[in-house]
Amino acid sequence: MEELALYGGPPLRKKEWPTWPSSDPDLEKEVVKSLRSNRWTISGFYKGRFSYEEQFSNAFKVFNNSSFCIPTANGTSALVCALQALGVSNGDEVIVPGLTWVACAVAVEMLNATPIFVDIEESTLCLSTVHVEKAITERTKAIMVVHLYSSIADMDGLLKISEKYRIPLIEDCAQAHGAEWRGKKVGTIGAIGTFSMQQGKILTSGEGGACITDDPLLAEKIYLIRTNGRYKMNQPPEDGQMELVEKGVEFASNYCLSEIQCAILLNQLKKLDYQNEVRHNNKLVLQNLLKAIGGIELVLSSPGTDKASIYHLPFRINLKAFNCTDIFEFCKALSAELQIGVHPPYVPLDKHPLYASKYLVDSSERINELKSNFKLPACWEAHKSIFLLHHSMLLADEGDMLDIAEAIIKIKAGMNQRFKQ
Ligand SMILES: *Cc1c(COP(=O)(O)O)cnc(C)c1O
Repeated sequence: MEELALYGGPPLRKKEWPTWPSSDPDLEKEVVKSLRSNRWTISGFYKGRFSYEEQFSNAFKVFNNSSFCIPTANGTSALVCALQALGVSNGDEVIVPGLTWVACAVAVEMLNATPIFVDIEESTLCLSTVHVEKAITERTKAIMVVHLYSSIADMDGLLKISEKYRIPLIEDCAQAHGAEWRGKKVGTIGAIGTFSMQQGKILTSGEGGACITDDPLLAEKIYLIRTNGRYKMNQPPEDGQMELVEKGVEFASNYCLSEIQCAILLNQLKKLDYQNEVRHNNKLVLQNLLKAIGGIELVLSSPGTDKASIYHLPFRINLKAFNCTDIFEFCKALSAELQIGVHPPYVPLDKHPLYASKYLVDSSERINELKSNFKLPACWEAHKSIFLLHHSMLLADEGDMLDIAEAIIKIKAGMNQRFKQ
């Protein structure tokens, strides 16, 4: 048997994986057109036609079958807009899953509110309904649901809680563009859905974001929060005049997405359904290939999932069967064989450097209660026993999935052999 790439042997994967993101002549034409339009932002002068921003807003609205879509500068600002529109402010609490990108917690802090970290379901890696209910207090102003790593959260359970306590759900769909649950697109199930179009996401303009909602009042608030309190005129202005007028009714920031980024998104959105389909088919192939190896199981989405969209694809591994010391060793070995980064999930937020230090210095009663009441065992179990495959690998051909399986078989044999020596 060949030496493991981890120990200097030849990597199993010889070909390149599809690059992400990637450009093509169509996209380049669109970008040049947006540049030559001489309006690079909605806060630039009107040029006698719909802005790219409005075109993208309409297209994404139609894509999601939602009533309103407000593009934002990035996913973090989409979360801030959503929280602010729901009235989250000083002294409020927002429930946030313990396993997610740190931006979810920081968005809450930006409004001087406290994120309350709640454990996940081991089966889906998304918010546990049982733990959410335990964490609700009279200060809870919103529940931030994250559809994480290709899974959709238990929306049946979360909707029930939301109705019972009259606390709105924000769906963070930064990793789930196009996913469908019981006939609806994610982001349209709760009060507001937020998206990120950062480079790593499956719909991207480098940086970018959006909020979607069916509620006209929330939509208007988000619009104003996003544009320094300016709103679009009912009638288009004369050419060369501003399309935005000041209302000054919200304490608002500037989270606008540029015309060039919206042109990119319009182009990329056309490809999303096809790419989601390719990734989905490869997932099924890979799921069977890896199951046959033994000791590896795909993490599944919640009941009601009609269509999961693949972001990072999570597999749970029995490390003993692979004779690996820990998940990091396995990830390093697999990265070396496949010539692409393979990682475990995020460090749970209670031990994220930001919160590890905050919890050390802040000994208020509530923080002490948080530390003792809201342990995150399922988040930690996930962090220690799951590896994530990047969505760009799932855009390769069906035959390329064999390389992933063979790399894992090679590691299993190589590690076991090392153990015997
Ligand atoms: C990427 C991401 C964000 C933040 O999005 P940005 O566009 O990077 O600000 C928020 N939540 C989740 C779950 C994410 O994956």
